[in-house]
Amino acid sequence: MSVKKRVLITGAAGFLGSHLCDRFIKEGYYVIAMDNLITGDLANIEHLFKLPDFEFSHHDVSKFVHVPGELDYILHFASPASPIDYLKIPIQTLKVGSLGIHNLLGLARVKNARLIIASTSEVYGDPAVNPQPEEYWGNVNPVGPRGVYDEAKRFQEAITMAYHTFHGVETRIVRIFNTYGPRMRLNDGRVLPAFIGQALRGEDLTVFGDGTQTRSFCYVDDLVEGIYRLLLSDYAQPVNIGNPDEITIGQFAEEIIKLTGTNQKVIYKPLPQDDPKQRRPDITKAKAILNWEPKVNRADGLKITYEYFKTLSKEQLDKIDH
Ligand code: NAD
Ligand code: UDP
Repeated sequence: MSVKKRVLITGAAGFLGSHLCDRFIKEGYYVIAMDNLITGDLANIEHLFKLPDFEFSHHDVSKFVHVPGELDYILHFASPASPIDYLKIPIQTLKVGSLGIHNLLGLARVKNARLIIASTSEVYGDPAVNPQPEEYWGNVNPVGPRGVYDEAKRFQEAITMAYHTFHGVETRIVRIFNTYGPRMRLNDGRVLPAFIGQALRGEDLTVFGDGTQTRSFCYVDDLVEGIYRLLLSDYAQPVNIGNPDEITIGQFAEEIIKLTGTNQKVIYKPLPQDDPKQRRPDITKAKAILNWEPKVNRADGLKITYEYFKTLSKEQLDKIDH
């Protein structure tokens, strides 16, 4: 009888963490899901609770992390991830990206486990080059409102690389670009749930700034596939995973209006400070090293995501806290 590989996923009750739990269960792993539920929701993983190969640990990873037994892999995805979340809880954001990763690297070292960290396109800040290759060092305002997230993630990369170099811990770094799909929180302030929520509630869609800033949206299944391949690869340098199909936020609002058939219009609100003007991943490396590229186009991904949001109750739809 072969023994199942054991994987610890932090941030498991969140949007990406929950999809990763699904994938690793499907691949035949024993999954230990850890989360303190600060921005996550147990509803995202409750379908896994009855499985013999799944356990949940309610824990803040910024405090000492203890996991009994062996571990083969650690996926560190715990962190507030949307601008309104990390503006609301800036200190916890800095702590999970510094104390949290320190604890997990220590755990990886004693367990001889391979660790992958969820880094982000935000390490490039408001980028002066477009698209962004991994070699670009970024343009980040450390003391601006987004600094708590961007600098925590940059530190996280630095300490991960240091443990790799000095302690020989096996590490992987995925730089994730804007990802969307079912289980995003309707009130997390990110542009897709914001627009779909507004359309479903019959409100006008709020475009920040003049809507000429760009983003490139990746469907969650594509992202999970890229993460899975990177984890199993032997490549320790950072790799961008995202969909290079770039669109302005103004055009994106029009797409959501068309998708939802709403009669609402676009209204303009001030652009938040340090909001990146352009963002598009250069995925040359992911293609070459992982033989990975996104498969789901935006029209299809948005349809699936819209169907998910339509299943939410009126109560959930109305629970907007910003
Ligand atoms: P999310 O808010 O849905 O999930 C984050 C999860 O981490 C939540 O369940 C939250 O409760 C948990 N968490 C936060 N702090 C914790 C702590 N100290 N201890 C234990 N659990 C904690 O966000 P997401 O979109 O799923 O993002 C997951 C990861 O991916 C984050 O690290 C984020 O920075 C990164 N990322 C996401 C995107 C994206 O587009 N979704 C893009 C770039 C990077
Ligand atoms: N945005 C917007 N209206 C909203 C929410 C966001 O125009 O109601 C804009 C935001 O200013 C940014 C883009 O959409 O330019 C993407 O924002 P999001 O918070 O989703 O992600 P991030 O800025 O972290 O890429």
